[in-house]
Amino acid sequence: MGLCLGIESTAHTFGVGIVSFDGRILANSKDQFTTTKGGMVPNDVARHHEEVKERVLMDAFSRAGVSWEDIDVIALSASPGLPPALHVGLRFAKELSRAHKKPLVAVNHSIAHLAIGDLITGAKDPVYLYVSGPNTQIIGLAGGKYRVFGETVDLGLGNMLDKFAREIGLGFPGGPKIEKLAMKSSNYIELPYSVKGMDVSFAGMLTKALRLFEQGCSKEDLCYSLQETAFAMLAEISERAMAHTGKGELLLIGGVAANKRLCAMLDVMCSERGAKFYAVPLEYSGDQGAMIAWQGVLQYLAGERRSPEELDISPYERIDDVEVFWK
Ligand code: AMP
Ligand code: MG
Repeated sequence: MGLCLGIESTAHTFGVGIVSFDGRILANSKDQFTTTKGGMVPNDVARHHEEVKERVLMDAFSRAGVSWEDIDVIALSASPGLPPALHVGLRFAKELSRAHKKPLVAVNHSIAHLAIGDLITGAKDPVYLYVSGPNTQIIGLAGGKYRVFGETVDLGLGNMLDKFAREIGLGFPGGPKIEKLAMKSSNYIELPYSVKGMDVSFAGMLTKALRLFEQGCSKEDLCYSLQETAFAMLAEISERAMAHTGKGELLLIGGVAANKRLCAMLDVMCSERGAKFYAVPLEYSGDQGAMIAWQGVLQYLAGERRSPEELDISPYERIDDVEVFWK
């Protein structure tokens, strides 16, 4: 059985996954850049990836119990992402391709999130709610492309949570810390609820919450209220997308999918309309290499092969820029 080695290097996580052509995940090794205070500085992230890349690669091989001889193709998360971080992955993928004489495949990171979600949950043709650090999008496959039906007009939900956390001194990543504090409150403080058609906005909510914090509102109440407001907005646009497209499944992906309260709200919404809700388990919902490897398998089996000279990064590529030739 063929194997693909996938390299993730778009943002905070450096990951290497090894996945078989029939979708068995043999390894999913990673090392995430974190801080105790302050956010993500692109050059610090790149330095982190340089430092850990060899170790993460070795760890993936030892967990999978395979060697270079067993690998058929190398997939790289070539877009979108922080340019300094993407460059570390690009140089590494080219080096490995030359050293071990393996073809390359260039994967769009966002599409890889969708693909691993399908693989893990068995969803057939869902509406995807993709909520990561920089992204908040409602996506569905239509007419040979992943279409973005709605999205944030300013900050991604994860980045909004991370900014709030940073400003109130919780460190990075902020989402999990906010989730913990939110569990300690049920006192809702009104924050701007901003849905326009299929789009959402989080900037006003962030500004208001920070102002209320300065005025002495408790961290717990604000974390709870941020979650309740932002998640209700997402439930509303997800429901509208399902109604418009007639799709009967919702698949939640991206790092924010780890949040239990968000899952619970979406689950209720779906069961009320007789739809299926799927959340991707923690290990596969955030950034990692297995998703790059699996999307690499799909593209390789559909005929893509690149030489190191033909591989490049596209930091700003959108999901709807990509032709879906593998389905
Ligand atoms: P990704 O870019 O897909 O790796 O997702 C990273 C984002 O997910 C960061 O902004 C995190 O703060 C956020 N995140 C991770 N865990 C949680 C959680 N339990 N609740 C909310 N956000 C989370
Ligand atoms: Mg991501």
